[in-house]
Amino acid sequence: MVSQHPPPPPAGKRRRIAVMTSGGDSPGMNGATRAVVRMAIEKGCEAYCIYEGYEGLVQGGKFIRKMEWSDVRGWLSEGGTLIGTARCMAFYERPGRLRAAKNMILNGIDALVICGGDGSLTGADKFRHEWPGLVDELVSTGELTTEQVEPYRHLNIVGLVGSIDNDMSGTDATIGCFSALGRICEMVDYIEATASSHSRAFVIEVMGRHCGWLALMAGVATGADFVFIPEKPRADNWKEEMCTIVARHRQLGKRKTIVIVAEGAHDQHGNKISPEQIKDLLADKNGLALDTRITTLGHVQRGGTACAYDRYLSTLQGVEAVNAVLDATPTTPTPFIAINENKITRKPLVQAVEDTKEVAKAIEAQDFDRAMSLRDTEFSDYYNSYMTTTTTDLNDAMRLPSKKHMRIAIIHVGAPAGGVNAATRAAVAYCLTRGHTPLAIHNGFAGFARHHGDKPLGAVRPFDWLEVDGWASKGGSEIGMNRELPSESGLDHIAKLFELYKFDGLFIIGGFEGFHALSELRKAREQYPAFCIPMTLLPATISNNVPGTEYSIGSDTCLNELVRYCDTIKQSASASRRRVFVIETQGGRSGYIATLAGLSVGAVAVYTPEEGISIEMLAADIKHLKEVFAQDSGQSRAGRLILINEKASKVYNAKLIADMIREEARDRFESRDSIPGHVQQGGTPSPMDRTRAVRLAIKCIEHLESFEDRSADKIMTDPMSSTVIGIKGASVVFSPMKDVEENETDWANRRPKHEFWMPLKHTVDVLSGRPDVPRPE
Ligand code: ATP
Repeated sequence: MVSQHPPPPPAGKRRRIAVMTSGGDSPGMNGATRAVVRMAIEKGCEAYCIYEGYEGLVQGGKFIRKMEWSDVRGWLSEGGTLIGTARCMAFYERPGRLRAAKNMILNGIDALVICGGDGSLTGADKFRHEWPGLVDELVSTGELTTEQVEPYRHLNIVGLVGSIDNDMSGTDATIGCFSALGRICEMVDYIEATASSHSRAFVIEVMGRHCGWLALMAGVATGADFVFIPEKPRADNWKEEMCTIVARHRQLGKRKTIVIVAEGAHDQHGNKISPEQIKDLLADKNGLALDTRITTLGHVQRGGTACAYDRYLSTLQGVEAVNAVLDATPTTPTPFIAINENKITRKPLVQAVEDTKEVAKAIEAQDFDRAMSLRDTEFSDYYNSYMTTTTTDLNDAMRLPSKKHMRIAIIHVGAPAGGVNAATRAAVAYCLTRGHTPLAIHNGFAGFARHHGDKPLGAVRPFDWLEVDGWASKGGSEIGMNRELPSESGLDHIAKLFELYKFDGLFIIGGFEGFHALSELRKAREQYPAFCIPMTLLPATISNNVPGTEYSIGSDTCLNELVRYCDTIKQSASASRRRVFVIETQGGRSGYIATLAGLSVGAVAVYTPEEGISIEMLAADIKHLKEVFAQDSGQSRAGRLILINEKASKVYNAKLIADMIREEARDRFESRDSIPGHVQQGGTPSPMDRTRAVRLAIKCIEHLESFEDRSADKIMTDPMSSTVIGIKGASVVFSPMKDVEENETDWANRRPKHEFWMPLKHTVDVLSGRPDVPRPE
């Protein structure tokens, strides 16, 4: 019988876990390497890096290096992969893999974490599968002795998906894909400005031979007029379809045309659709006659430092990979680490690799329904979102009969957060496609309630398509946002206005105040029948403190701003003296952004309101800093960061802590405080916030329109008539407000009772080498 327990480590030595990056480089690979190295050391193992991918494994020697804790310092903020990557022909063949096996055994490595695309992971799985045979062959040919190979009878392999294409089945995101998407959106945003100035059309080619994720998501995030992806080729009349849509958008007054095409785009019969072909169509003198240019983005899509998401995703997945190695038994199928919505999971690698290959096969066989079905539901969701927000009045099939049309009010409540406008744009476009009347309420409930005597002065007016079309990438709130609650203007007055404007549904986009506002309206339904309409909230706040969800739109933009800020600050430290920066973050009474930013920049400590700060804790952290700087040889002059949430303590603020550190450091190092303030709300929203805003906003309007029976009775008795949409674990869910208010909300602290990210604080501490400091009682 095969043992169910992990094989014992080779006698007398600690386990050796190696990490390698392979295939095309992707932003975040360094985060993965850092996390694997540090977590392995933390767990009492030795950490190794294999340089230059499989090539290094086949060559051995200097390509296989033992790593120490400090070797990976500062890696989170570096682009590409610092341990190199290569395409290795030798590893495709058994003799190459035999040499790789020998090098592994000679270096005492018994587990390998590989971060790469589907090719690299296919190779990894093959390697593990063949391993027993390779080991036998090494013995039978006399290259190694039985004693030498004995401790290495089982090989543990764990895959991390590092690829910008996001083409791996079974995971929503690969390490690097959001950074690449960020780069693409940045470029499209630049191009849009010039396109609009000259009233031009641009055809933008993005990467993706078999996978249209980058093209599709860029289309959703930028509000492109048309996209071409390999999995779902347009119908045979695509030329007319594209020209009709572009012509319609122009007719509505749009001055720019953006068409995004994946490099692997083709028609239903497998004929390639090239950017030149699209350009010729748009420029055709007898047709649209648009001044059209082509931009091929190429390798800029790979380049640069990782966005916040890729930094913490790679970090958390690296940690999980080491845990998976340590949990593995000889019979555990080779896992890879996936993420589904917000949940990191282990899944069988073989299945994912097979499913991924199936997509390419289905595309080749022109079975596009199958290709789409093999992609995650999220992908189809985005595809549908894209289609319904770009075709508006041209899409008769989507239009509801007039008796089902609703007057849907849209209001922003709280403080601006990236993605609020994108959500509004999507909701409006969806409403128009369905035949509803979307109504803008300006400046929150305070603006809505403005009046002179009995005369309402608040601006409430129907949106039109052209007005919102340019909002996909705009930061702030175009219709104005305010924190005021309905009760502050009087629920009676607000109810009268609801009646006056004959709202059939209410869509609130906002933060904790939005949540609170919705709670007030829901509770007042008995008294004010005007509130007996379906109402839903899309959480949008940089603080990510809205109960009912683990993710609020705007929080990703904020994290990116913070990460950029911290990188810049860190650099200034390396150029001058050795410094500790104490950076104050926003976040209200939730330590979410401080913690996630801490994870993304490798902060030495993060102070949160949930945990608080005590003098003992500060003393322990200062002692630790002294030790850290004392050990520094002087080559590493880069700064250290401490992140403190603005409400972590009533007494110890960033300045005071920085002063205390400086005093204690006695000139051995310096300390400064720094407050990024409103920079954290972000300029241009991140692609994640934009795309999720679109997807979730459409789901919200779909939810509102699902109430065909909107009688007061039905609304009063149906708990789903007032809801908050959220991402919880691996799912997108609507939760009844009443439940969330009563069971999930810490009203005093304005945050969820259970904060899903709390365990991540421990990970920040472990990976930064923070000792187990005393926590406040
Ligand atoms: P990307 O998504 O960036 O293309 P990838 O991991 O898919 O990354 P590949 O070039 O396909 O990139 O694979 C990287 C390396 O993995 C190859 O050079 C080769 O050494 C190894 N490899 C790929 N496929 C196999 C296979 N079927 N058998 C053995 N090794 C393989």
